[in-house]
Amino acid sequence: MFVKIQDITSFEPYDAVIIGSGPAGATVAQSFLRRGRKVLVVETGSATVETDVQDSYSVIHGQGHFDSNYWPQHWIRALGGTSAVWAGWMKPLSARNMVSWPVTRGELAPWYDHAAVTLGRDPMISTWQSAGVPGFDLKPFSRGNTARYGEAAGEAIWSDTHVHVLLNATISRLHPRHDRTGIERITAFVAPDLDVEIDIAAHQTVVLAAGGMGNAQILLGSTDGTNAAVGNDTDQVGRYLMEHPHFYECATLIVKESFAFTTPPPSFGRFVPALVPDDATHAAAGGVDASFELAEIPLTPEDDLQSLIVERLGGQAKAYVLNARTEMRADPSNRVERIFGTDPSGLPRLRATCIFNADDYRSVLHYLNALGKSVADQDIGRVGIINDHLFSNVTGGGHTMGTTRMGSDPKTSVVDKDCRVHGYSNLFIAGSSVFTTGGYSNPTMTIVALAARLGEFLGGKA
Ligand SMILES: Cc1cc2nc3c(=O)[nH]c(=O)nc-3n(C[C@H](O)[C@H](O)[C@H](O)COP(=O)(O)OP(=O)(O)OC[C@H]3O[C@@H](n4cnc5c(N)ncnc54)[C@H](O)[C@@H]3O)c2cc1C
Repeated sequence: MFVKIQDITSFEPYDAVIIGSGPAGATVAQSFLRRGRKVLVVETGSATVETDVQDSYSVIHGQGHFDSNYWPQHWIRALGGTSAVWAGWMKPLSARNMVSWPVTRGELAPWYDHAAVTLGRDPMISTWQSAGVPGFDLKPFSRGNTARYGEAAGEAIWSDTHVHVLLNATISRLHPRHDRTGIERITAFVAPDLDVEIDIAAHQTVVLAAGGMGNAQILLGSTDGTNAAVGNDTDQVGRYLMEHPHFYECATLIVKESFAFTTPPPSFGRFVPALVPDDATHAAAGGVDASFELAEIPLTPEDDLQSLIVERLGGQAKAYVLNARTEMRADPSNRVERIFGTDPSGLPRLRATCIFNADDYRSVLHYLNALGKSVADQDIGRVGIINDHLFSNVTGGGHTMGTTRMGSDPKTSVVDKDCRVHGYSNLFIAGSSVFTTGGYSNPTMTIVALAARLGEFLGGKA
């Protein structure tokens, strides 16, 4: 239920304070309410997306492949968070994407099943695949049923009496205990000249679920100017910023008319066909993953080269344009940092540096060459790489990952395998900021899986 700050007479009854109401925060809140436990959800935004909130809070100076317009558009400050605009595509990470994580893909499997159901899918979307062409599997993305947590998908959570939602309030600072083993107090900015201090009792936990930028921002802002910011003793907060490079229309595939891919069974629901390198092809490319969406397009009879290819293929062919969704290497120098100035709550303004590595491009080129060779060797098709689109027209997916990464070593990570900030007994993080690597898969299914796992770890019920 929605509450106002004046309705809250004591913070003592809450088992947890959850910061942010997007898919991550909503999922953790849901786990608590299933056990009849009480949580307070603090959300910067209003019930709907408001331009002035967006303009005041989501200001980020962008450097590298994404400019200052990019990041704010992809971080929505309202009930339900960025799920207000997400497209609903989903795919889990695969085992090869998680080798450097302290959690294995096998451990996440039941949580992916849970996430699939939560997001309105059959769990089989996590595992179904079929043969593509030699060197590549057909692994479709699931799409449809776009869960918006500010609307229908969040209704049962936000209306439950165990969940108190405080809108238009921003957590601006976490205050560590003097021995820095936990959080003793948090500051909520509710209105100009109205900061509310929330004492964190021994039975309570704090969960940051403020988005890929927001989780790092809150930690970076939680400093007294003398000591390192909370969780940042080894200068890891904000590092390893990752997006998913998207190369739209980076190649065309012309195949014989008779060539057909197996379509998933009806329970898969709506899907987007995509070719994904098999493990051997993936290993040969150096470990960066990619997927190639197959979008059928009409043949262009006036294109001489196409006509020649069609003739060589026997006269009857069809064409696809390939849209690549790929992984970028986790690089500590791609990072979010605090810069001069603050937002209205006092949180630091951020600069986001995100630069793709030359090898990120080379891997995609490698895969396209491998795909071209594969279909040519069998004489079933030809691939044409569109150089300008591949090298000059890259964008992202609106996915912000890695800024509070998960790992066993506090020197190179911010949270442990339970999503607990290293050294802080009562501080946890939910969201794609904990991703150690990004794979090529859209992140929200993994966010919901990890958040449900965290919710249960904290005593909730998935
Ligand atoms: C255009 C677009 C399309 C997308 N399409 C897809 C897709 O097809 N598939 C997919 O998997 N993903 C997609 N995504 C990404 C998806 O939206 C995010 O992965 C997901 O919303 C992240 O969930 P979250 O809860 O971690 O963060 P968010 O949804 O960003 O929620 C964070 C919430 O925390 C609040 N907050 C932040 N700081 C504070 C603070 N200090 N105090 C209080 N509250 C705070 C924010 O206001 C926000 O409401 C897309 C994103 C965009 C922009």
